[in-house]
Amino acid sequence: MPLTKIIATIGPSIQDYNTLKKIAISGMDCIRINTAHASIESVALIAGMRKKIEKETGKVVSIMIDLKGEELRILTKDGDVEIKEGMEYTITDSSFKNSRLAFNVGKAIDAANSGDIIVAMDGRVSLEVKTRTGNSLKVTAKTDGVIKNMGRLNIPGRYVPLASITERDRQFLQAGIDNAVEYCAMSFVQTSAQINELHDIIMSMKGQMKVIAKIETRKALDNISEIVSVSDVIMVARGDLGVEVPLSEVGMAQKEIIRAAHRRGVPTIVATQILESMVNSESPTRAEVSDITNAILDNADSLMLSEETAIGKYPEEAVKTLVRIASYVEGIVVHFPGPEDYLGNRVTFSISKATRVISDEVESDAIVVLTRTGNTARMVSAVRPSMKIIAVVKERVIAGFTTLLRGVTPIILDSEISDSVNLNEIISFIREKGMIKPGERIVVTSGIPEMVFGGTTEVKVVTVGDVIGRGFATGTDINGTMTRAPDYSGEIIIATDSPDIDMLKGKKGVIFEKQFRREDIDRLKSLNMTFVGGTVFFRKVKNGESVSIDVETGVIYK
Ligand code: PGA
Ligand code: MN
Repeated sequence: MPLTKIIATIGPSIQDYNTLKKIAISGMDCIRINTAHASIESVALIAGMRKKIEKETGKVVSIMIDLKGEELRILTKDGDVEIKEGMEYTITDSSFKNSRLAFNVGKAIDAANSGDIIVAMDGRVSLEVKTRTGNSLKVTAKTDGVIKNMGRLNIPGRYVPLASITERDRQFLQAGIDNAVEYCAMSFVQTSAQINELHDIIMSMKGQMKVIAKIETRKALDNISEIVSVSDVIMVARGDLGVEVPLSEVGMAQKEIIRAAHRRGVPTIVATQILESMVNSESPTRAEVSDITNAILDNADSLMLSEETAIGKYPEEAVKTLVRIASYVEGIVVHFPGPEDYLGNRVTFSISKATRVISDEVESDAIVVLTRTGNTARMVSAVRPSMKIIAVVKERVIAGFTTLLRGVTPIILDSEISDSVNLNEIISFIREKGMIKPGERIVVTSGIPEMVFGGTTEVKVVTVGDVIGRGFATGTDINGTMTRAPDYSGEIIIATDSPDIDMLKGKKGVIFEKQFRREDIDRLKSLNMTFVGGTVFFRKVKNGESVSIDVETGVIYK
């Protein structure tokens, strides 16, 4: 699987269990529930399927509930209203007085001034405001089109004081908390105060959901740095953003939003029209492939599918397309930049940076992060190491919080070893899960002291294996059978005081249980083999046992 994460919106196309499971196996990391189209009861059903998928596949899949707040909608009386360019129309509040068009939120009338452009139906219909009298607007159509009841409505650049959390949203939050949902997203965020309000509500409901801020208004763009400072995840919600600001600005806004979030180590999602053509077509357009490539290069953590998986004809192919493109791009561009001008906790950040540097230097196969809250995993991900990051956690909920972090795969410790401070035991556990292999080198890190489960802030380099012993080695990495002199039948010999040089000829290596002695080395030099001196064996060695020696760490392992 690629390092980039994939979110798929659930809907009729994928909501039967077998399809959803297939989508998860194909690469979905998070299921998005779009509350515009979902019922409150569906949360428990989807959470139940998620649980079953996790049990059957061993993969951690999170859930996001996308809350709508009070949304601006255009209402029609008696069916669709046909709009003709140049014609005049009247828009009122929901009284529909002398009009067939209305705003669902009456206060929106006060926000529109003459000269403003009202955009309806996802940008397909534009109306220019001529005059406002009391509770009605006179507008002139700038385009032909059809307005349907409850169509999307935007007044670009105007602030309409809408409730950010409705009663229905609260019911979804409660359902989310009851069903261990990890994320909720707030639509049309304008200020950091709204995000704080949502955090407060979640807290008062005794939940621990993470909050995703959807950036889709001009005001949110203007307030981006304060919003990222209080949000857990940031979404570039290109659908509405492309209506609220001129469409031509969307590409640059995406880069700016990602950069602002990354400065705080906050993960990002790029959403909407990612693979729009695949709603009806089996393959994407060139432009879509290019857009996805660029979103990854922009340093986004996750890509989100909306209609593609909710109502599209090729949901699984859409997920697989993202996997293919992301895997390819990540194979070519290995080094992504960490945060520029980082703002936030310097301790976790510097440990994370050190982890990246060390991993690169020792060419490690993986980074293992022991994390209690998921915070250290978030920071290690943010500095963008090129190897996979395994987040070792004790609780399922924390594992869910790492699913939107680029490069992070969570692993939940079994309860018997979850209080263990023994790194060897933890490493064996990860090995049993097949996530690391014997002989691989890993860098293990744990966060600032209070985040750790077993020690201090540290970064360690470890060779995976059943470690038998350790010493100081020179030469090259070797493996072979090991015997103790005077048995010289092995390929690697544990030597006694004065090794028999003739007998050592042709062997791969020699291990001393005491320090190297100058004269031994001089005598052995010509034999061109690996030496390990000052070796301590951690257990009794069986004659003829197969072992490997990692010269850099001096570790002898099975
Ligand atoms: P939506 O949000 O699909 O819920 O409107 C995403 C967007 O606007 O891009
Ligand atoms: Mn939106």
